[in-house]
Amino acid sequence: MVSSVKRKFSPRRCHGTIQWVRWGSLVSYNRPVAKASKPKPTPGHVPCVLRLEELMSEHYCPRCKTVSLEETDRAENICFFLCSNCGRRYALEAGKALTLRWREAVTLPLHEVYGSDAPVEQAVRIAQKFVSHCSPAELDWIIREIRLELDDPTQQVRDTLDCKASEVDLRRYLLSFCEHVQRLRGMT
Ligand SMILES: [Zn+2]
Repeated sequence: MVSSVKRKFSPRRCHGTIQWVRWGSLVSYNRPVAKASKPKPTPGHVPCVLRLEELMSEHYCPRCKTVSLEETDRAENICFFLCSNCGRRYALEAGKALTLRWREAVTLPLHEVYGSDAPVEQAVRIAQKFVSHCSPAELDWIIREIRLELDDPTQQVRDTLDCKASEVDLRRYLLSFCEHVQRLRGMT
């Protein structure tokens, strides 16, 4: 039951948990994120909070270029933004650059492999899963956004979900995922 439900959910991190939120509904449940455990203080440890300059500086949509992002909410170590022009949502975590927020299209196939150090090998399986469970409109959106990111990079995609694999391997995975999805859709 859990696995069948889980397939229809996508991750959104908030206040140290990932909320699994059904696309298009408010049904959700929480599961703990290992990384969210409080770090042990070490000599010279700098509290992991957004620096003042990060909070005060203005951020622009990496796609729209000149559109200033609106802050929508924030947690201890992370701020979330929305582009009023294109509707993309972003996250800015302490010590990192701006990335797309969880549940944006690019992050959905990444979530399936965020703990893997060999994501490319899983591209076929994940593509089959998405083709089976996503609507044509969702697949169009996911593929369009991934292709855009691959052709015109705006971020470290591995930082969107603290992925284990390298940036190069994750981009290879995303490309392979797109190719398999498009091949599978052509067969139906
Ligand atoms: Zn935008």
